Amino acid sequence: MPSKNFVLGIFGGGQLGKLLTIAAKKLKIKTCIYTNSIDSPAIYYADDFIIGSYLDKKKLNIFIKKVSIITFEFENIPFSILKNLEKNIPIFPKPEILRTLQNRISEKFFLNNIKIKTTKFKKLKRNKLKFLDNNFFPILAKTINFGYDGKGQTFFKNKSEIIKHKFPNDQYILEKIVNFTKEISVIIVAYENKIFAYEPIENLHSEQILRQSISPARINSNINEKAKTIAIRIAKRLNYRGVMCVEYFLKKNGDLLVNEIAPRVHNSGHLTLDSYNVSQFESHIRSVCNLQPIQPKKIKNAVMKNALGKNIYKFRERKSSNKEFFYDYGKMYVTEKRKLGHLTKVY
Ligand code: AMP
Repeated sequence: MPSKNFVLGIFGGGQLGKLLTIAAKKLKIKTCIYTNSIDSPAIYYADDFIIGSYLDKKKLNIFIKKVSIITFEFENIPFSILKNLEKNIPIFPKPEILRTLQNRISEKFFLNNIKIKTTKFKKLKRNKLKFLDNNFFPILAKTINFGYDGKGQTFFKNKSEIIKHKFPNDQYILEKIVNFTKEISVIIVAYENKIFAYEPIENLHSEQILRQSISPARINSNINEKAKTIAIRIAKRLNYRGVMCVEYFLKKNGDLLVNEIAPRVHNSGHLTLDSYNVSQFESHIRSVCNLQPIQPKKIKNAVMKNALGKNIYKFRERKSSNKEFFYDYGKMYVTEKRKLGHLTKVY
């Protein structure tokens, strides 16, 4: 059990930070949020917060004096900053893990090296585009770092399209489009000596943004087991601590390709708040703060819908039944496709 003066520091103040903070409060863990944005709903729930740039050494120094350990709600904090902070304070998951996973190319090399399948990919070389194989298309070009919700992604049907495109630099990965039958994700929680997996979740995306998650995923038991086993294997190889989400493409022939690993709580896991004995948020807090592990058990089936952009107004007006749980993140700015809330229906 952490001491009375224990404070959990969290980088990031969005909805994931807010839901982590609420879970921490339930466990009587004090929190301090560090965020670079005034529009950070988590700051209203935390015991303390700092608003500053992730590069502001002065403010970061104040932050580490206030907190006992650090975790994060998003993976795009510069590695060099975390590595420096780690000299003085424990950070979970480890910055080294973040370094591997925040770069789409090193993430895929790591996975392929441990014989886990990914999409076919190449690093962009602007002066070699004409040598690309026609069979490699169609593709998505994604920024190697700092992309999310389809940001920094461009679709190319064929070679002539990409040759005409003006890339600002070579910091892109080219990924062959996968003709998948489903997208699924597995959330795991890794404690010091134990790793538990939540049941696979089925995810429906449109324009590269998650719209809906369904639990359990409509897949057969072989795929279900395989997806959990791969996620646990990844966590073991990374010597992981905390909650992590592995996103997969399921192909018609049963192949599971890892699309992405999120070293944090994940949008697809929001439904665990209302359909599990322990949510992904509570699991993460328990794991990084070294509290008693709880094995996640699904108690209900669930469907979660994201409220994006102006759609939030419709969600706010809707009357929820006693099987529906609406979360309004309380963000100040309503911008197109921004994640502003979600609704989970259990059954
Ligand atoms: P990402 O930012 O890589 O998670 O991509 C967001 C979403 O875009 C995915 O969940 C898929 O729906 C779609 N997507 C990304 N990469 C590919 C790919 N190589 N093939 C097909 N769809 C993809």
